[in-house]
Amino acid sequence: MAGVSRLQYTTETKLMRVMCSGRVDLAFVLRAFSNGMDGVFIGGCRLNECNYITHGNYDALNMVLLCRKIMEHIGLNPERLRIEFMSSAEGILFSEVMSEFGNKVKELGPLGKGEGIDQNELKSKLAEISRLVPYIKVVKNEKLASRLKNPEEYDNLFTKDEIDRLFSEVISYYIDPEKCQACMICAKRCPVEAIVGGKNLIHVIDQEKCIKCGTCLEVCPPKFSAVTKISGEPVPPPIPEEKRTIVRKSKER
Ligand code: SF4
Ligand code: SF4
Repeated sequence: MAGVSRLQYTTETKLMRVMCSGRVDLAFVLRAFSNGMDGVFIGGCRLNECNYITHGNYDALNMVLLCRKIMEHIGLNPERLRIEFMSSAEGILFSEVMSEFGNKVKELGPLGKGEGIDQNELKSKLAEISRLVPYIKVVKNEKLASRLKNPEEYDNLFTKDEIDRLFSEVISYYIDPEKCQACMICAKRCPVEAIVGGKNLIHVIDQEKCIKCGTCLEVCPPKFSAVTKISGEPVPPPIPEEKRTIVRKSKER
């Protein structure tokens, strides 16, 4: 509507269309910041006016509320991320909000520089948070599905302490070499191929690749229960490669 009506708004924006604001994943926002964007604006349909039963705009709202707290946690100004809800007929509102947001971002300055964060430090913080997105979504899935009716509740959906805890108590998964029977189920089900193993080889989780989805813990057969969840403690070092072969009793005879 803003374009059809020839309404003016800031030209320093890159528009990306998605079918629904609910499609805007936390990973997309972090990627935009990692790629050097100084601000991210998400425009969704008015709350409770979704054409579908999915109400994806609530998902977008919750994701933004979470992301803003994560931004604060890593030292970024959360005002660099904004969400607004409006109908496609509200071109004037859209152009006003975009211009206002553009001015705000200009005032905040370049990402990181405005906050006094070293660029390399910011890059590594964003990379680390991006790697943890699946874990964050699993841990916070209940709150991410909330439907807050009152804007006054927005700021308290996620608290600073909760976010600090989220990152200080990051869960890791570990395969106990004494229990692993090399059934290979976990390696087949791991979504990011983070489990190193093979036939008759004790399986090992590559902690650098692991996105902490917890699938290996779920699928490891109870009779083996070889996968454990570790929180707030260092993960034991992986068993050396030369000691990973399992010699079956039948083969020993
Ligand atoms: S938690 Fe397990 S299944 Fe999930 S990514 Fe890590 S190793 Fe793979
Ligand atoms: S599912 Fe369990 S027993 Fe099977 S390979 Fe993985 S860790 Fe080992």
